[in-house]
Order: sequence, then structure tokens, then C-alpha cells
Amino acid sequence: MKRILVIGAGYGGMRAVKKLAGADLDAEIVLVNKNPYHYQTTQLHEVAAGTKEPSDITFDITQAFANKKNVHVIIDEVTKVDQDAKQVELKNSDPIGYDYLVNSLGFESETFGIPGVEENGWPIVDINTALAARKHLEDTLKRYKTSHDENDLHIVVCGAGFTSIEYLGELVHRMPKMAKEYGFPENLVKVECVEAGPKILGMFNQDLAGWAVKYLEKKGVIFHVSTPITEVMPNAVVSNGTQFPANTIIWTTGVHGSHVIADSGYDQKRNRVVVADDLRVNGRPDQFLIGDVSGVNNPGNGRLFPTTAQISIAQADCAANNIVALLKGQPTEKFVFKALGTVCSLGPTAGVASIDFFGHWNLKGWLAAIAKKFVADRAVFELTNIRTMLESD
Ligand code: FAD
Ligand code: NAD
Repeated sequence: MKRILVIGAGYGGMRAVKKLAGADLDAEIVLVNKNPYHYQTTQLHEVAAGTKEPSDITFDITQAFANKKNVHVIIDEVTKVDQDAKQVELKNSDPIGYDYLVNSLGFESETFGIPGVEENGWPIVDINTALAARKHLEDTLKRYKTSHDENDLHIVVCGAGFTSIEYLGELVHRMPKMAKEYGFPENLVKVECVEAGPKILGMFNQDLAGWAVKYLEKKGVIFHVSTPITEVMPNAVVSNGTQFPANTIIWTTGVHGSHVIADSGYDQKRNRVVVADDLRVNGRPDQFLIGDVSGVNNPGNGRLFPTTAQISIAQADCAANNIVALLKGQPTEKFVFKALGTVCSLGPTAGVASIDFFGHWNLKGWLAAIAKKFVADRAVFELTNIRTMLESD
């Protein structure tokens, strides 16, 4: 019996397994993931800010496929793909071979080699880092009552991409409650966002981006654009000599693919591999790379598509269809992607959105917040089943 091995149970991996399991194949499907749970990365900023608990955004992987007899789940960490031997090396058990591999190991925080980031910045890339960032934030704010160190109430969020902006929205939403609970004066809180580029939310039109910036500014966020961070100290962020003092520094300046990609000898850039039209690795007809470890050219602008949950799910469908085709001796299909738009939340009750679904919609305020919840629910359904969707927050 052929073995299809899927590594990484994020959006890409979960969706690929769901599709393959539904295809009634005479093949074994093995899913390897380092945690027993799937987490919705699209809501990690909420756990980091403390507006959601990990249980609100996670579900059990084995449970999700409990009724699929040909799916086996292995909880272990992938350390390397041995491409010539056609096997995947694991941290705690023997290597596992494959006939077809779907590599969907996802993303890690990008430091760009900037001094002090690893030691002093708090990234938001998985449940553990989100929880660590939350604990540091809460401990530091609580400490002010005895320390009276104004830096304990200063927070710098690095970069102004989607992760930063969505985190800021949750943070300023929760701040009044934390001030009451931890006994610090809210008027002494300073939240700054330091961005290298000249614009905030440049991917939205001026109207939507301007609305989002004003919304956050009204809640106290101070934005600094054209300010590249060059060093992160224990209690300040530095941009070419200018210091932004803070005892909480959230590091959200972007991501790269899993380090396993470079460790496995792929032809990669920032641990992303530009894949062939049908999502296979050039020269490796048995391997599909999807999600944040892959790069797909956008014929519209000649650049790679941004890495999103949306494209990961679409790639998973294409990779699964192609594996089914190969097993049947049929030709593979090309990956074609049409983005449905973008939603950026600004806390639980507001957001901005540019959606291409039955027409084009620009949304601001609570309608965009509803759209974000709808998209998250739909994603859970696409990965598992309606029961898990209804149980998720
Ligand atoms: P991931 O979701 O990163 O999943 C990878 C999986 O592999 C994880 O389960 C991980 O535990 C596992 N894994 C990693 N390494 C190993 C290993 N060595 N061995 C075994 N298992 C391993 N995109 C959108 O489209 N819409 C949004 O609203 C949105 N919001 C976001 C909000 C935040 C805060 C962040 C950080 C990202 C957001 N994104 C959003 C981007 C989106 O989350 C990613 O593009 C998406 O998660 C990529 O999916 P993936 O399946 O490739 O990888
Ligand atoms: P990003 O790359 O989109 O944004 C990082 C930001 O940090 C950029 O604006 C960049 O200019 C800035 N930056 C980089 N180096 C810097 C430095 N030294 N000093 C100051 N600023 C610096 O990263 P992200 O926000 O983590 O998003 C990662 C991926 O996930 C993207 O593809 C994004 O589209 C996706 N995502 C989507 C959503 C959503 O759709 N709502 C939410 C979060 C993330």
C-alpha cells in the first residue's frame, strides 16, 4: 500500500489530510505534527494579548480524524527530510518513509539577524510564544504597582504588518480592564508601533488604512513610520541611534519558513521554496510543498503571493487532487489562486476588510469584525468537521 506522508498540521497539512481522507484511496495517510493539537494561527495575537485562551483556538488533531480509518497521526518533531532516501527524520522515533510527501511545516519568526531580537523581543508564532508574550506583558504591567518604573507601562510593537496591527487592536481593547485589575494608572501607558516602511497597512486603500490607523491612534497607539529597527535592547528598541524605551517589546516584523527546509538541502530563500506549477518540488516528482514553506508566483504582479492561511488551504486542495491523480496515473493540474480578499481585525469589535466575494466590498468597523469571525469559522470547517467548528470559539 502506498504511503502519503503529510508533515505539519497547520492550515495546509490539516486540509490536505481532510481532502485525501475523503478521496477513498487505497493508500495510508500519515500526519506528523509536533503538538497533539492544531492551532489557528490567524488568532494567535488574541492569545498573546490575553483576549482569548489557547483552548479557544486549538483542537485535537487525532480527534479530528478519529472516524478516518486510513489516517494515522504521529506526534513528533520533524528534524529533516532525507529527499534521496524518501524518508523523514523524527526527533523521538525512527525515520518514516513515503511514496508521496506533502510538506507543510509552516512559519517561524524572522529576526533579520538584528542584534538583541532573540534575547529581548517577544514573537507571536505559535501557542507557546503567544503565551510567553502574554505572561511577560501581564507580569510587567503588574510590577508597576511596586516598581513605579514608567518603562513597565511602555510597550513597543515592532513592525506594522497585519500581525502587529491585529495585536495592537486586542491590546488596546484589553488595557482598561488590565489597568483596573493590576492597579496601574491607564494614563501612564504608552503603546508605540515602530515600522521600517513609509506606510501602515499599505495593502489596503488609503481610506481603509487611514481609518484603521485613526482608530488605533484614538485608543492611544503612537505610530512611527520610516523607522527601521537596528537593535533591540532589554528595555528599549533602537532605530539608528534613536531609542524607544519599553520593558515589553513585541517582535512582529515578519516570518520565514521552517528551518527544516534549509536543513534538508532544498533550494530555498528564507526557508521558502519556489514550487512548480502543480506545487511539486522541481526535480522531486514525489514531493509537494504548500503553505508558508512554499513560494508561488502571482502572474498578476510577477511577485510571490503573500503567505496566508487562505492560500495554504487552496494549495492543500490542489496538492491532494494531484496526489489522487498521480495514484490513478493521470496528469496533475496547475495551481490557480484567486484571493478572496483580506480582513484585518482591530480588537474583537472592529476591523477593516477588502473582500472580493460576490462583488467587491470595503468594510470598516463591526462589519469587518464579523467578517473575520466568519472567515475563522469557515477555515475550521475546511480543516475538520462541523462539530469542531461549532465547538471552537
Ligand atoms: P502553520 O499554520 O504554521 O502550521 C505548521 C504546523 O506544523 C504547525 O501545526 C506546527 O506545530 C507544525 N510544525 C512546525 N514545525 C514542525 C516540525 N519540525 N515537526 C512537526 N511539526 C511541525 N492568514 C490569513 O489568511 N488570514 C488571517 O487572518 C491571518 N491572520 C494571521 C494572524 C497571525 C497572528 C499570524 C502570525 C498569521 C496570520 N495569517 C493569516 C497567516 C497564516 O496564519 C499563515 O500563512 C498560515 O498559518 C500558514 O499555514 P501553514 O499550514 O503553512 O503553516
Ligand atoms: P509582514 O511581513 O506582513 O509585516 C512585517 C512588517 O514589519 C512590515 O511592515 C515590515 O516593513 C516591518 N519590518 C520589517 N523589518 C523591520 C525592522 N527592522 N524595523 C521595523 N519594521 C520592520 O509580517 P506579519 O505581519 O507577521 O505577517 C506574516 C504573513 O502573515 C503575511 O503574509 C501576512 O499577510 C499574513 N498575515 C495575514 C493576516 C490577515 O490576513 N489578517 C494577519 C497576520 C498575518
